[in-house]
Amino acid sequence: MKYPLITIDTITKFISLVRGGMPQASAATAVGRDVNALRLWIQRNGMEMPHVRKPVTGDVMSYVDAYRSGRMTQKEIAIACGCSGPYVSKMLAQYTDEHIRSKQVKAFRQIIDHIKQNGGRPKATARLLGIPFNSTKFYTYVREQGIDLLTHQFAGLEYGSWLVVAGDWTKQGSNYFVRALCKKCGNTFDGVSLTNLRSGKSTCCHNCSIGYTHGRLQVKCLTTGDTFKSIRNFADAIDMSDAYQTLRLQLKQQPSIVINDREYSLIHS
Ligand SMILES: [Zn+2]
Repeated sequence: MKYPLITIDTITKFISLVRGGMPQASAATAVGRDVNALRLWIQRNGMEMPHVRKPVTGDVMSYVDAYRSGRMTQKEIAIACGCSGPYVSKMLAQYTDEHIRSKQVKAFRQIIDHIKQNGGRPKATARLLGIPFNSTKFYTYVREQGIDLLTHQFAGLEYGSWLVVAGDWTKQGSNYFVRALCKKCGNTFDGVSLTNLRSGKSTCCHNCSIGYTHGRLQVKCLTTGDTFKSIRNFADAIDMSDAYQTLRLQLKQQPSIVINDREYSLIHS
């Protein structure tokens, strides 16, 4: 030991004070030594003089919650991060704005995603998700992002075999005319009366409802006069069982279909 008055314990304490944010001179005073003597000792022992760590904004920001909840003061954060009080103050102010903004955007996205998946209105959706709702800020954001939520307002509602999907809708009096999918045939229709869906007056599209209200549908071959007792029976008979759904759709949508030069039509039994 070339400088017996300075022990490794003194050096360790000095280094830890400086790394903790204390300027070198103050740390030297704190351990009762001259800073130059400490520097010499450190250099001669092949060590590096400690430096006050440059404050990283991320460090300060990791204390935001502690500061907001009152668990730590700005001064305490400054000491913890090894930077000045005014710096902490500046960072907190700057980041709090961005933090609030990013938190708000996250909440907005949650509302928007929910509406896109389940339909609904923003305010009611926010309430459902337990998110505070500021309509001015929300709609400003939606406009800025060029998002069209209106087309999703009724999307996702289900009545009978109807599934309301995203799309333009119109309002007439207290009724809405929406875009809806008939799950029985897979076709989408515009201008479907929401009142009729809600009251149960309409449970599927017109084509499907004809099929379901007039009993069993038969297939008649207009060329030969043969009758098949069901679409399934018909599909099997012409060896097109795999295409049953396609045949069923075509028969329901068209007055007649032609297969292998023979014309077939749907008839009610
Ligand atoms: Zn249908």
